[in-house]
Amino acid sequence: MAPMVLLGCQSLTGSQALEGDSNTSSPAASRGLLPGDSDEARAYRAELVRGLGSEVRDARVLDAMLRVPRHLFVPRASLWRAYADDAAPIGYGQTISQPTVVAIMTDALELQGRERVLEIGTGSGYQAAILSLLASEVYTIEIVKELAEQARARLLALGYANVHVRAGDGYAGWPDQAPFDRIVVTAAPDELPRTLLGELAEGGILVAPVGPSGWTQRLLRYRKKGGRVSSEDLGGVAFVPMVPGG
Ligand code: SAH
Repeated sequence: MAPMVLLGCQSLTGSQALEGDSNTSSPAASRGLLPGDSDEARAYRAELVRGLGSEVRDARVLDAMLRVPRHLFVPRASLWRAYADDAAPIGYGQTISQPTVVAIMTDALELQGRERVLEIGTGSGYQAAILSLLASEVYTIEIVKELAEQARARLLALGYANVHVRAGDGYAGWPDQAPFDRIVVTAAPDELPRTLLGELAEGGILVAPVGPSGWTQRLLRYRKKGGRVSSEDLGGVAFVPMVPGG
């Protein structure tokens, strides 16, 4: 874990918050690349992923980050910006998390490949795409309806067929599909919602940034074993607040 505070998705205001369109319409590339991807983008990705190696234990996480074209999840991004280790605006005042944070959170989930995963805070759909390569099914909830719709369309266009996107309030979880083997929260609640712990399966892992906005949030990992829940502090982070729906 790096000693500095890591950036999850942060609030943005002003012109940055207005950028909201997607960028998935580039022509399909050859050589096994997804539509809109390119060799140049892949080279930037390889460079980014090389820098993440020290943060991540599971090589499959790095492989997934090599495969998912992050620039297609960031509106009007230049390649260098999409592949810098930084948070970036996705519209509606939200951001896609810093790649290091995505890598650390995904690694912390200890995915084996057969899990059903719940994500709170779909945002661009980037984290969901990464999870979809490492788990069996991904269920993801986004409170901003427009972001949910854009992410659903983008994930479909890119062929991530095992991701299910729903517009709604993550505090309510996804009872129809519970329990989940893994839950990852990508916006910060002041306290961990009990509903989400209730939807975690026996033997499951939940990773969430917890705490009020500012620089005091902690990334926590919860494990449910024998009906008991233990928690572990993975370090300081900065995320947008998880907002209650209506
Ligand atoms: N995982 C995203 C980044 C998350 S940014 C990605 O890979 O791009 C955090 C997201 O959480 C924002 O899109 C925000 O709108 C959403 N969010 C905030 N509160 C929420 C809630 N109560 N339920 C569901 N989503 C919420």
